[in-house]
Amino acid sequence: MTHPRGILEHIGRTPLVPLRRLGAGLPVPVLVKCEHMNPGGSVKDRIALAIVADAEARGVLTPGATLVEATAGNTGVGLALVAAARGYSLVCVMPEKMSVDKRVALATLGAQVIVTPNAAPSDPDNFRNVARRLAAERGWFLTDQFRNPANVRVHAETTGLEILAQTGGRVGAFVAGAGTGGTISGVGRCLKDHVARVQIVLADPVGSGLADWVETGRLGADGTYAVEGIGGSDVPDNLHRGVIDRAERVTDHESFATALRLIREEGLLVGGSAGTNVAAALRIAARGEVDGPVVTVLPDAWDRYRAKPWMRPAEHNTR
Ligand code: PMP
Repeated sequence: MTHPRGILEHIGRTPLVPLRRLGAGLPVPVLVKCEHMNPGGSVKDRIALAIVADAEARGVLTPGATLVEATAGNTGVGLALVAAARGYSLVCVMPEKMSVDKRVALATLGAQVIVTPNAAPSDPDNFRNVARRLAAERGWFLTDQFRNPANVRVHAETTGLEILAQTGGRVGAFVAGAGTGGTISGVGRCLKDHVARVQIVLADPVGSGLADWVETGRLGADGTYAVEGIGGSDVPDNLHRGVIDRAERVTDHESFATALRLIREEGLLVGGSAGTNVAAALRIAARGEVDGPVVTVLPDAWDRYRAKPWMRPAEHNTR
């Protein structure tokens, strides 16, 4: 008898499905990779497992070690799953603006959560600087999703290759927002290696400086926006400009409206950044300038945003 696979072996190999209603009538199909269906509910399970496995293979992670990460929540959930299965402790440092649901989920999973002010990257209180300092002071292992090359690599070797297999190699464009940049850099590199004329497009919230950086090499003005997990006012090492062809800017309003449509019209139970990605993907498909389906990712699931106003449209409260 073959043994059933452990939960970590169910990370990845997510479905790729067409948007039958939102994409109806467009010149090319829009296909979405259901990363919200990973065991921890997000694309970040992939990098959590890859980063820990890589550190174990390099011998830098000893049994019983403590992992520390600067995380908006999803990487924390992924790391908590991996830490539980492999016997590590976990400390997550997250900025105040992230949803309460994410904080509660991490605490439930047994992680220690440290909340920092919403500080600029140059500020010592910024969540990434706090995580780095704690790792140095306490001898904890900094998983370092913004810089660790295992992040980009696992997206090239799993997410990218899965998309190639699921589309038979026919991809006109790949669209994704960037938090660490791992998804767009890894999948982008893999697709560029295998598909002629594929376009790699950054979906960026209005208020983030990254779209300007893609277009000009210089970061745009730093504004505020409510979509979580993507965009920003600095460029992480794992975001590789060389694989990105152009950028699409998406407002909070359009991101959240599109996420709600994915939930209500497609039965895809996703979070806000899926709305950003799909809004951009629909625009690109509508222009009809690409050579095949437009593929994007649904980075995480709706359950971590239930307290957010966009999940409670006014018409539902009045009936
Ligand atoms: N959406 C959400 C909700 C996220 O948490 C993240 C990761 N911060 C992303 C998208 C972007 O993924 P990546 O880090 O691979 O750029």
